[in-house]
Amino acid sequence: MTDYSSLTIQSAISGLRKKDFTSVELTKFFIEKIQKNNELNCFITKTFEIALKKAAESDERILKNSNRQLEGIPIGMKDLFCTNGVKTTAGSKILENFVPFYESTVSKNLWDSGAVMLGKTNMDEFAMGSANTTSFFGNVLNPLKPKSDKNKRLVPGGSSGGSASAVASGLCLAATGSDTGGSIRQPASFCGLVGLKPTYGRCSRFGMIAFASSLDQAGPITKSVEDAALMLQCMASSDEKDSTSSKKKIPNFLDFKKFNLKGKKIGIPKEYSIKGLNENIEKVWKNGTEWFKSEGAEIVEISLPYTEFALPTYYIIAPAEASANLARYDGIRYGFRSNEPNINSLYSKTRAIGFGKEVKRRLMIGTYVLSAGYYDAYYLKALKVRKLISNDFEKAFKSCDLILTPTTPNVAFPIGEKQTDPIEMYLNDVLTVPASLAGLPAISVSAGFNNEMLPIGLQVIGKPFDEISVLAAGSLIERFREF
Ligand code: GLN
Repeated sequence: MTDYSSLTIQSAISGLRKKDFTSVELTKFFIEKIQKNNELNCFITKTFEIALKKAAESDERILKNSNRQLEGIPIGMKDLFCTNGVKTTAGSKILENFVPFYESTVSKNLWDSGAVMLGKTNMDEFAMGSANTTSFFGNVLNPLKPKSDKNKRLVPGGSSGGSASAVASGLCLAATGSDTGGSIRQPASFCGLVGLKPTYGRCSRFGMIAFASSLDQAGPITKSVEDAALMLQCMASSDEKDSTSSKKKIPNFLDFKKFNLKGKKIGIPKEYSIKGLNENIEKVWKNGTEWFKSEGAEIVEISLPYTEFALPTYYIIAPAEASANLARYDGIRYGFRSNEPNINSLYSKTRAIGFGKEVKRRLMIGTYVLSAGYYDAYYLKALKVRKLISNDFEKAFKSCDLILTPTTPNVAFPIGEKQTDPIEMYLNDVLTVPASLAGLPAISVSAGFNNEMLPIGLQVIGKPFDEISVLAAGSLIERFREF
């Protein structure tokens, strides 16, 4: 069988058009590869029958020249997007057997564009995590290994770890992710991929299992920037089923190719040179600024003074919203139920058994910061700081067009590390969370390696709804990096 693992969406589309292979052939290849790589644990549910049926339909359309944008392209769907008739768990025991009877808007948009679903990808429980170690269905392995110790297994990042690992190991051509505080960008960075978090509101949240509604945003994890633009094109829509979905006109994201970065100002926020930033990452960041300079862009130092408060703010707002959103899992309406003699113990037992440790920690924090006695001191304060963080960006974008930073303070770490101290795990998100709080579009593109040949991602943050410049900057990084 031909090896299709290194195809991008773009090259697969052209292969399908030229009839070098069919979608059924592609799909069969990925099915076999997924089965051979079960130990990576990328998929919670495999939907091979659906995939083969859809692929055959796509092949017919291709024969009739009625291709849609992603016709016949096999992808992975994060198990946070409700899929009609297909189990959707959000990585949790409490939804272990939940089969939705409706389709999320993002997944519907992708199927309407001809994409083929290979399965539902593994994730941190309710998207809470940075290592894909909190899933009820077990952790996901990063296919990459450190150069000096090929027996060491690393985390793929989280929470979209199943999606990232699946794309990096060539089990599908692309996958969806969701990003609340970094869950698309961080795993993309850990797995050497492209991860795009669009502006808040660009993709509908309808049918996405909610974690923190004012932050959650869907986006693609892909091998190339062009693929990310293509995926976003199909995922984005304005949707009356989500009151926060934007009515702004959706541009042709592939126009990033025509976007000239010459003369653009690239802001380097001094506050992102945080203590503990790995020196290899520092170096790649420096290289990045040189690449932009040689393209004729101007590098300017900027200040985002409230950066240090972003992480604590996020870890108040996200758990607060989660505690409200996850109140619906009570054992009555749907999902897991612990059968108990009375209603109170039914509620509490269901939730005690149904949720994992990290989710329970967040629900307790969230309930605490929203409680009558502490609302003003924590939640309200956090909302105010969130506004200040947003203002920081607004001011900064008066003197620059884009912001260039590292994606993460460290590279992929061994499974088991950072597990005992939650704060250490939360520190993973220190560089991704600010853009989330401000609702800004941001991309992570693999830009270099450390001494162990582990990938390092650079992040580009843009103005609201300016995904095109963000993609253009991502593509510059892609062109200049030396691999
Ligand atoms: N790692 C962060 C958290 O645990 C972000 C998760 C996300 O973006 N879904 O909350």
